[in-house]
Amino acid sequence: MAAYEYETHEYDVVVVGAGGAGLRATLGMAEQGLRTACVSKVFPTRSHTVAAQGGIAASLSNMGPDNWQWHMYDTVKGSDWLGDTDAMEYLAREAPKAVYELEHYGVPFSRTEEGKIYQRPFGGHTTEFGEGPPVQRTCAAADRTGHAILHTLYGQSLKNNAEFYIEYFAIDLVMSDDGVCQGVLCWKLDDGTMHLFSAKMVVLATGGYGRAYFSATSAHTCTGDGGGMVARQGLPLQDMEFVQFHPTGIYGAGCLITEGARGEGGYLTNSEGERFMERYAPTYKDLASRDVVSRCMTMEIREGRGVGEKGDHIHLHLNHLPPETLDLRLPGISESARIFAGVDLTKEPIPVLPTVHYNMGGIPTNYWGEVLNPTADNPDAISPGLMAVGEAGCASVHGANRLGSNSLIDLVVFGRAAAIRAAEIVDPKTPVPTPNQKSVDAAFDRFDGLRYAKGAIPTAELRLEMQQTMQADAAVFRTDKTLAEGEEKMKGVAAKQGDLKVTDNSLVWNSDLMETLELTNLMPNAVATITAAAARKESRGAHAHEDYPDRDDKNWRKHSLIRFEENDADLTFRPVHLDPLTKQDEGGIDLKKIAPKARVY
Ligand SMILES: Cc1cc2nc3c(=O)[nH]c(=O)nc-3n(C[C@H](O)[C@H](O)[C@H](O)COP(=O)(O)OP(=O)(O)OC[C@H]3O[C@@H](n4cnc5c(N)ncnc54)[C@H](O)[C@@H]3O)c2cc1C
Repeated sequence: MAAYEYETHEYDVVVVGAGGAGLRATLGMAEQGLRTACVSKVFPTRSHTVAAQGGIAASLSNMGPDNWQWHMYDTVKGSDWLGDTDAMEYLAREAPKAVYELEHYGVPFSRTEEGKIYQRPFGGHTTEFGEGPPVQRTCAAADRTGHAILHTLYGQSLKNNAEFYIEYFAIDLVMSDDGVCQGVLCWKLDDGTMHLFSAKMVVLATGGYGRAYFSATSAHTCTGDGGGMVARQGLPLQDMEFVQFHPTGIYGAGCLITEGARGEGGYLTNSEGERFMERYAPTYKDLASRDVVSRCMTMEIREGRGVGEKGDHIHLHLNHLPPETLDLRLPGISESARIFAGVDLTKEPIPVLPTVHYNMGGIPTNYWGEVLNPTADNPDAISPGLMAVGEAGCASVHGANRLGSNSLIDLVVFGRAAAIRAAEIVDPKTPVPTPNQKSVDAAFDRFDGLRYAKGAIPTAELRLEMQQTMQADAAVFRTDKTLAEGEEKMKGVAAKQGDLKVTDNSLVWNSDLMETLELTNLMPNAVATITAAAARKESRGAHAHEDYPDRDDKNWRKHSLIRFEENDADLTFRPVHLDPLTKQDEGGIDLKKIAPKARVY
């Protein structure tokens, strides 16, 4: 057994992650008097949320008529009828409150002439239950909305005496023998010391796993650590087959050009100069849902109408917009286009390509953020002591496809919900549970095994193999053949983890070891993604299966769950929640309005 000394810290709640979700949860917990620690592997305001450009959806009606029912309808349709109805109602209803809270905390939103929060159109957000024109629902702070939110929430958390442990890397969860989460074991990156955070509630807010793919808009830190930790405890991951490709990553670099660019009037063209989205989505055109636009772009390229020397990308035009609008509303992407594409967007189009952007799947939770561990008799059974929020979680409000600007609102609505729930179930007066030594030892053993891994394959090499496999075989379009091959290949890639080679054994600023830990977290996320994708014999949302082009609600309107036993990925299912929170005669939505139908934009 590996012997490491460690320091123990006791809290009511420990939040792992300081992005939008982690900070909103931390702030909410601290405000309610819970002793709260927030642990983050990067400085809080460097979390990927800082890169969110376009904005945050809420039906404030500042720019024209809107209401929560329309927002809910758009979210249900966007999810391609795979989201949980209760959670989607909660999101749409609570969204305005959560945005006004952000405003009062100090987020510097862009303003209208009358001083109200400015809102822009975004893909898939409509009026009149999808019958009316696009709605302006996305609240924005220019094209730096995530930046503004993150800085404000960090300041507020400090003001409320939350305690931050910065550049601490969470290695593994500590669980009792009967499955209660009791804390998390962390490695302090700058001095190599070890820390056990013992708590009555652990909240995973570790973000997505975009880096399982070769080309992604997400930060290099988005390595699905929460999913990895959960998978190692035998808990499931849900709906992992649904990976969102954003239509407009900069060709080559992968950096994002926000959908706000199309919201402000930008449009896509092919090599013939044609605005091809008019052909595929006559009503909402370039503002159709992301999965739809990404597929249309891919089809144009496949049919020989891509732009550039290799005909392998598409053009995004903003050059027809007044330079003042670009300056005021999209200053950040003007800079990104210049630096990463060498393009002056007031004069020329930007070369773009669908790029991995968001993970709809993740750790299954209810709409309070409590992690689910479904059993045969109870698909909604809770895993005690554990919550998950933000992109790491799957509530599930995005189902098979997330609408733009619905993630930032998910972070704050469910970060806040987790805090409300924790205040109900965590008693500050009870003692912190004694951590299960067996579980602590197991975490140290795994860590030590990787620290001294003396195999043949360097971490970077295996990571690249995983990323290329996922990029090729779990792409925008999928077939039985690519998925079956991909599943086999990923099994082989994952098995090579036993042959990893770590050259640096020190404990201080050891990026080799940290990246190895991250790779062991990415791996179960990647395997779960391709396994669930190979199993799902239909097309729904982001899962476009060429051998099964239609959605099949009879057989497949259900959540997939993947659990790992040793290295085997085991697939089961969980029903979708069809009941809303509120009945129609008590002010809820008319269920007929959100009944499944063909998804056209
Ligand atoms: C470029 C880009 C633009 C986007 N624009 C928008 C937008 O305009 N609107 C919108 O709604 N959505 C947008 N999204 C999506 C949205 O920003 C993300 O889904 C969201 O920010 C994720 O937030 P999070 O709090 O879940 O995680 P993150 O912000 O990714 O934070 C994760 C946190 O977990 C910590 N962490 C992870 N692993 C560990 C570990 N092992 N130990 C300790 N700490 C750990 C990290 O340090 C970090 O603090 C965008 C995404 C990208 C990539």
